[in-house]
Amino acid sequence: MNKKYTFLGSTLIALGFAAVMAANAGAPQTRYRFYIDVPNKSAQNLRSMSGYLNRNGFDIAGVDIKAGKIEVITSEEGVTYLKSKGMSGTALKVMVAGGKQKIAGITEGLDQRYYNPDKIQAKLKDLNTKFPKLTSMLEIGKSLQGRSIWALVVSTTPDVNDAKFHSKPTAMFDAMHHAREVMTPEVVVDIAESMLNTATKGPGRARTVLEGMNIVIVPMLNVDGNAIVWSSDNMWRKNAHADGNRPYGVDINRNYPYKFSACNGSSGQKGAQDFRGAAGASEPETKALMAIAEKVRPVGSISYHSYSELVLYPYGCDGDYTGEHAMIDKLGKDMAAKLPSDRAGSNYTPGTPWDILYAVDGDSMSWIYAAFGAPSFVFEINQDFQPPYSLRDPTVMKQRAAWHHFLDQLAQHMLTVQVRDTAGKPVQAALNIVQIPHVKGERDFGTNMAGNFFKMLMPGNYSIETKTKDGRKSVTPVSMGDGPQTVTITL
Ligand SMILES: [Zn+2]
Repeated sequence: MNKKYTFLGSTLIALGFAAVMAANAGAPQTRYRFYIDVPNKSAQNLRSMSGYLNRNGFDIAGVDIKAGKIEVITSEEGVTYLKSKGMSGTALKVMVAGGKQKIAGITEGLDQRYYNPDKIQAKLKDLNTKFPKLTSMLEIGKSLQGRSIWALVVSTTPDVNDAKFHSKPTAMFDAMHHAREVMTPEVVVDIAESMLNTATKGPGRARTVLEGMNIVIVPMLNVDGNAIVWSSDNMWRKNAHADGNRPYGVDINRNYPYKFSACNGSSGQKGAQDFRGAAGASEPETKALMAIAEKVRPVGSISYHSYSELVLYPYGCDGDYTGEHAMIDKLGKDMAAKLPSDRAGSNYTPGTPWDILYAVDGDSMSWIYAAFGAPSFVFEINQDFQPPYSLRDPTVMKQRAAWHHFLDQLAQHMLTVQVRDTAGKPVQAALNIVQIPHVKGERDFGTNMAGNFFKMLMPGNYSIETKTKDGRKSVTPVSMGDGPQTVTITL
């Protein structure tokens, strides 16, 4: 049995501190970045302590597994309270202010070169203008405050309303569910930009990828939250959901309908940093990401967050794995092995959220797997959520090795199922792969608007059950080797 690290009086719920976190979007406030030492730097103690902090409404900014530290952003009272519970570490006093203001205690304010909502829109427009045949720009929704939320499609077939788009699998990359995680849009924009720059130089790997696959990026989902980061509170995490003029915010990454509020992986308190909102998909930002995903049906997804240097995979609730854990676990471990830490001598740590830290529910990663059977990851990048801009280039360069590996693996192990009638026309059908058990309430698979279905599958023998609404059905054996394969099922 695991020995649990316990605290004196740990049953006392620190809701008072959750309320302190409900930052008002007005005057700068004093807060502390409290770097708590994990006893013995053990993974077990880190998990136990971060679980305790999370359950008690503290804002965990990130962890440093190797150094055995957990960073909590809190008030002076919060630091005192945690110290009274036996926690020790270094508390750095900071003035929380908008990104345009200098912050006491931090040598440099938030660097102006990071994206804001206007700059991200301009950047995507610029890429779309420069590469009109290889991109399309989509407004996937509007935020609570009326800002546009954008996606960019990168592909040789970039029109999502055309059947050609739906004849290829789609990989999806998103960033900035959380407003303060300013490095994450940089990585996702780089995925599009580096692929476009390389693909237009001539034949080669990037061109081949874009001919065989669509890439969809959503680089700044939480546009309103990011506006708060720049105007009044550089530590803001959630969206701008407000009581009158006072934003309390919903954590978009606890607001998805799959396992919404299911396993103590979010909070029902408005002031908490992981407040899940009134209902699954209550927030326009959540709806926007879900809508684009439903449209393109991703075969794989990486959602970029910061920080902690982790590669996380489903599911979020304690003890839950997908029915394809062996494949997803290997993908996650292989990508983590390609991601060296910002500090020398170690790599990103792979695992499920509950393996490494604590349970999460209503998260995008779990929803994407459950809805589409797509291997789905969260990368927690860097060792700070607002690193100096000098880390921008090294970060995006480093991330390329991992997402390239992801795209390569998706392409290599892709099964394409074309469901057609006897005249060769696309047929809408529900699909089930007998060897992939739906163990945790996952949705059935189905064809897209062009009668196609895509799925990453490891080598092996599979049975594909296909059925139409009007009762036509078949069972088709498929033997996957170590390469991609296309099968046509005639119904
Ligand atoms: Zn995050």
